[in-house]
Amino acid sequence: MVQEAVRVYARVKPLGRRQQAGIYSVHNDEESLSSLEIVVPHDLADGFVNNKRESYKFKFQKIFDQEAKQDVVFDSIAKPVAECVLAGYNGTVFAYGQTGSGKTFTIAGGAERYSDRGIIPRTLSFVFDQLRKDSSKVYTTHVSYLEIYNECGYDLLDPRHEASRLEDLPKVVIMEDPDQNIHLKNLSLQEATSEEEALNLLFLGDTNRMIAETPMNQASTRSHCIFTIHISSKEPGSATIRRSKLHLVDLAGSERVAKTGVGGHLLTEAKYINRSLHYLEQVIIAVAEKNRSHIPYRNSMMTSVLRDSLGGNCMTTMIATLSIDKRNIDESISTCRFAQRVALIKNEAVLNEEIDPRLMIVQLKKEIQELKDELVLVTGKQRTSELSQEELLQLDELIEAFLEDNDPDSTLDVGADMHKIKYCFTRIKQLMNHSKISDKKLISQHISEEKDTNKEPGGEELKRLKELLQQRDNEINILVNMLKKGKKTAGDAPFQVNAASAGCTVLEHSLPINLEENRGPSSCSSLKQAKDFSSSVHRLPFLSRQTGGKMSLGCQEAFEVFKRDRADSIIIEDNKKLLKQRFAEAKCLGEKLNEVRNKINHLKGEITQRRIQRAALAVSSPSEELNMLDPVEEKLRMQIEEEKQSYKTMFNHLKGLKVEIEHLELLIEKVKMKLQKDFEMWWSEEAINLQQEKSEMVSAPDTVTVHPQFIRSSQHLSTNSFSETTRVSPNEDPAGKNNSTTSSSPTLRTRTPPSSSVPLTGDSKADTDILAFIKARQNILQKKGLGNK
Ligand code: ADP
Ligand code: MG
Repeated sequence: MVQEAVRVYARVKPLGRRQQAGIYSVHNDEESLSSLEIVVPHDLADGFVNNKRESYKFKFQKIFDQEAKQDVVFDSIAKPVAECVLAGYNGTVFAYGQTGSGKTFTIAGGAERYSDRGIIPRTLSFVFDQLRKDSSKVYTTHVSYLEIYNECGYDLLDPRHEASRLEDLPKVVIMEDPDQNIHLKNLSLQEATSEEEALNLLFLGDTNRMIAETPMNQASTRSHCIFTIHISSKEPGSATIRRSKLHLVDLAGSERVAKTGVGGHLLTEAKYINRSLHYLEQVIIAVAEKNRSHIPYRNSMMTSVLRDSLGGNCMTTMIATLSIDKRNIDESISTCRFAQRVALIKNEAVLNEEIDPRLMIVQLKKEIQELKDELVLVTGKQRTSELSQEELLQLDELIEAFLEDNDPDSTLDVGADMHKIKYCFTRIKQLMNHSKISDKKLISQHISEEKDTNKEPGGEELKRLKELLQQRDNEINILVNMLKKGKKTAGDAPFQVNAASAGCTVLEHSLPINLEENRGPSSCSSLKQAKDFSSSVHRLPFLSRQTGGKMSLGCQEAFEVFKRDRADSIIIEDNKKLLKQRFAEAKCLGEKLNEVRNKINHLKGEITQRRIQRAALAVSSPSEELNMLDPVEEKLRMQIEEEKQSYKTMFNHLKGLKVEIEHLELLIEKVKMKLQKDFEMWWSEEAINLQQEKSEMVSAPDTVTVHPQFIRSSQHLSTNSFSETTRVSPNEDPAGKNNSTTSSSPTLRTRTPPSSSVPLTGDSKADTDILAFIKARQNILQKKGLGNK
């Protein structure tokens, strides 16, 4: 249990340009409490404040002067409370002050700048950050958002419908259980698994609140808003659950009704606000008084909801917001007085732990069984009957689990029945004998295997190398076919891979030594494309499956060419363009929304200003006219209505855009997957074809086995003269005269693609590269004893 006084802070709002500063001074003391001194000017001392004291001093935990930034306020005020809540205590932060003094700015934040984020979004960010860091517990987080207006509660997070009026939202009702715990019926608790989700909910609540507000019901200044973060945590396997909640409260304006001089509907409203703030004060006084048995929590909804936070089980912090403008001196003093009373409250926060009933049942059942077993041992009442078939099976399972458990401390628990214990010993003995025999067998098997492998050293390695060569062959074949086709379509392809560079890539990755000798200075532009592709490969599950997580560069190169002029690629490109456009639109719309929001706030400010002026006038020179409706205010309200309408339209448009963007992203992903799948099929078909041709050639008697893709070069290579091959000029290509299936040589029978009459690449540099590669490859094959002689 932690006993602590309610911490009270003060924050002074920066003065507007036209505001006349009141005289005050701040003495912040790091060690003890800070003090705020407000000086009442002589001309006011006679009028507003009755006793003619000139200066008032108030003590606070800390005072944030005009220039204090939101992050500093969060760090000092809300962070410590959030930390307590994460540890399992309840917490509350509430802002109290007159309208316009900065309560909403402090709790929720300003709309313009990211840096103006208030306590709620910063707390959410902090809480989710901490939860992410702590993996020792399982956490669940929910949020709720309650608005209390004219003593009625409304659920701002109701997902069922978009409210057009506050009254359309479900009414929240207070219920009390026999233990006098408060429950709020109809207040939805929405699960938020991430900061983003929680912020979305906050945004939904704020939007509901904004839209539900009508000119006749300026709820935001006359209602109390309570945003609550509910956290529950549990250690894995433990039956104890900790539940805690953090209320972040933006109270209604505390100004006294006499000053505003309103009547009718507004007066009713004002009465409600004053009544609930009055009850809040009564509760605070009652709690602060020693020996008070009855605390009037039930008098208002506000005090009922915050019951835990006021003199109950909670770490509570108050922030008094002050607008120390000359005209607001008396309101500022009354806010400070309230704060001093709150500072007297002592709260007793206890850890909110409870037991998970399901886990408790399991634990109790186990305990009962253990006690029964003990009873059997103590009373000596043993069974006489034999073990049933079912029991024997059960025991076998237990023994198996026991033997498989690697934990040295694991036990075999079969109770106190001697029959069972004896059976276990016998069974384990059997198993041990059995395993001894099989161990012997295993050892002799192992020895004979070793002998076998010694006979044929490198067998596995040879097989692996053969496979690797086969794979490289296939890749080269497919690529060369593509190169030839590529040559034919050259010119109409938008981003054709340079044939020379394609050859270069194949060589580079199949045979790095040769590449060093043959690579031209600028021949590898496609490498970059291939690399770009490879960076996206890791997201493609089926490709990774096929290539065991890695796709060879040859395969990547082929994919680049494959997708070059496919309709799917065009769809992807088009959608990407559209997506970019939609992102830009959404950004622009977001900025406009902010503008409208600011405009609405500005208009509201004007109305408030206008009211204050009229109220002041009514006090100094009362007249009938001042009690009637103000036409200027009416006009301002109309303007607000219009702005709200456009806000709503834009907001809906933005929602639509978001859906569209998500949809487009999904679409692009889908087409990409299809393209890659098509490629995979094509690639494997090509590989199978080549395999078949190869086996045909091997089985045909007078056939020299030549890799089909290199038919032209192979003709020269058959003389085993590398110098000859390098002399071949593409224009003299002898294969060009051959038909597509049979070469001029009667000893060569293989399939060449229809385009084989076209010189390999037309680029003598690339041809040389490929031929050099073939030569080197053959050398390797011969060395390994695999070559086609
Ligand atoms: P309240 O909720 O108490 O009625 P608001 O938070 O709406 O008051 O503040 C009134 C206006 O003053 C808003 O336009 C707000 O942006 C501005 N404001 C309040 N506090 C600050 C501050 N510390 N720094 C800058 N602007 C502030
Ligand atoms: Mg406000």
